[in-house]
Formats: sequence, C-alpha cells, structure tokens
Amino acid sequence: MPIIDLRSDTVTQPTEEMREAMARAEVGDDVYGEDPTVNALEELAAQKVGKERALFVPSGTMGNLVAVLTHTQRGDEVLLEAESHIYYYEVGGLSAVAGTIPRLIQGDHGWISPEQLEAHIRPRDLHFPPPRLLCLENTHNRAGGRAFTPEQITRTCAVARRYGLKIHLDGARIFNASVALGVDARALTRDVDSVMFCLSKGLSAPVGSILAGEREFIERARKARKMLGGGMRQAGVLAACGIIALETMIPRLAEDHRRARMLATGLARIPGLSVDVEGVQTNIVLVEIEGPDGDAREVVQRLRSFGILVNAVGKRTIRLVTHRHITDEDVEKTLEAFSAATKSL
Ligand SMILES: *Cc1c(COP(=O)(O)O)cnc(C)c1O
Repeated sequence: MPIIDLRSDTVTQPTEEMREAMARAEVGDDVYGEDPTVNALEELAAQKVGKERALFVPSGTMGNLVAVLTHTQRGDEVLLEAESHIYYYEVGGLSAVAGTIPRLIQGDHGWISPEQLEAHIRPRDLHFPPPRLLCLENTHNRAGGRAFTPEQITRTCAVARRYGLKIHLDGARIFNASVALGVDARALTRDVDSVMFCLSKGLSAPVGSILAGEREFIERARKARKMLGGGMRQAGVLAACGIIALETMIPRLAEDHRRARMLATGLARIPGLSVDVEGVQTNIVLVEIEGPDGDAREVVQRLRSFGILVNAVGKRTIRLVTHRHITDEDVEKTLEAFSAATKSL
C-alpha cells in the first residue's frame, strides 16, 4: 500500500538535482572557513533575508538555540509566544543550555500584539530577571501555519525596540509566509536582529538550517555553534543542496498551500470534523475531532491502516502538512480515508 505522509514537510526527499550537486560539490573544512560551497550558501542565504551574514547549522533547533545563546546571558528573560516552537518543541534548551528564563505570552493565533508585548515587559527592578530578547515565529507552527504581515511585525518590533529588547525570528517556514503573502522575505525580516530558517522542510534539502544577522552577531554565533558541537567539516555536500533549495524550491511552495486549502475544504465537509478553512494560509492544516469522545490519537491509528500518516498535536487536534510529494490525488485519498476513519466516532 502506498503511504501518504502528511506528518511534516521534513519528510521531503532531496531532488535528483540535489543528489547530483552533492556528488560534484567542491568542499573543504568549514570549521576553518574553507568550504567554498558552505561559504556560497551562507552568502546566498544572507542575501535572501537581507542580512549581512549567515551561518549554516545542522538543524532549526540548533539555529534557535545558537541565537538565544548569542543574544543573552544566563539569567536573562526571553519573551515568547506560549505555543511557540522554541518553547514547546526544543527540549527546553533556552533554559537547560542557555540558562534563560522564558516569559510566555498567549498570542492571538500565534501572534503577539504590540499591546500584549507591552503588558508583559516589566519595569527594571531588583527582583526581576532582565528582559533581553523577544522571539517571534513566522509561519507559526502550532497556530496552523499562520503567516504574519510586515505591518504586524513592524508594530510589535517597535515596542520591543522601545524597551531595548533584541529580536529573534524563528522563521523555520519564512518562505511559506513570503509566498503566501506575496511579499519579499526581506520585508518579513527587516525589523529583527536575527532570523533562523529551515532548508530541510518544504524546500526539500536533506539537512540544515540558516541563522542570519549582522556580521558581528554571526561571528559570535559561530562560536556558540562550535560550543554546541555544530561545527561541521566537509559540509559542502549538504550546503550544495541548500543552494538548490534557495534557488529553485521557493515558488513551488504555492502548490503546497493550494493543496492544504483543498484538504481543509474537504475535511470541513466531513461530519464530526471541524476546520478553520480561512485560517489555512500556508501548508499546515489543523483539524479538530468533534463529539464527546473525540480522540485524535485513535483517528491517527485508524488513518494509518489506510496508509495515511498524520500527527496528533493535541487531544482532539490532528495536524496535516502538505509538501512536494503530496499530489492532488493524495489529497482525494486522504479525504476518503478521513471519511472512513471518522464514521463510527
Ligand atoms: C521545524 C521547526 C523548527 C526546528 O527545526 P528542526 O530542524 O526540526 O530542528 C523550529 N521552529 C519551527 C517553527 C519549526 O517548525
């Protein structure tokens, strides 16, 4: 039985062109700064998000952690959205490794408004940890891939600036936001000090993420990456895929968004399921199982018997992520399987 894997866009396989580029890539020792392919990727990546410099890191989690380590000192307060990936899914690294204390803000569908941010910034006081860093997320994973506009970002960042906070953007899917909103990624990153984005998700590279920022910030970040064990050697074989990802894979994200909408529209028609169709702006669909005994895990198990892989992200919530390997036909099959799997709930 063919498998339709909607668990994440991280399951995307490298393209043929990427595999050929890996074989041909010119490489050197990147810890010495001598891998020409890594250097080329970092230059291209910095330019894509309008920053002076960029750093190739093994994962998005490490990119975010390096950013927190570089912006803060132990005991500093980091303000972030209550459902943010950095808080929810990164093993508490901001505390366990960076020694910072999170201050959570319950946003509106993942977004922290200027008013909310201001209400959570405490005055200077002997008793309080110093607020140092604001982390934003675009698109917002647990909010179902919501994309936030340049205007929203500018307004919230203006408050952060007024209080002297540094700003890091977890932009794992920043190009999904850029494509969905029809704006250049640079309009989404101009107000922040640093941005992380993933090459290994919808862009289909096998491994790797980028952290970008000012030259001096990236110099210090390089040291933090080394400390965490993220200094890679002939990493050009991976960076070669990242270059292809950035040069060729961004516009096609629109197809993933179209299929996510198809999925959402179809799921909303199935009795016992509820979907905020208008809220599906990029490649993530959240579907709620209704009814008194609605159990997402049970539905996930039943779908598996039809060859459909999805993740439960809450007691009643299932997440579906579209990507390069999901076709229109897969969307149809997924809708049929959902109908069958939820019939007797
Ligand atoms: C996937 C993701 C990350 C982390 O990326 P990994 O490469 O899986 O460590 C960070 N932030 C968000 C919003 C993500 O979706």
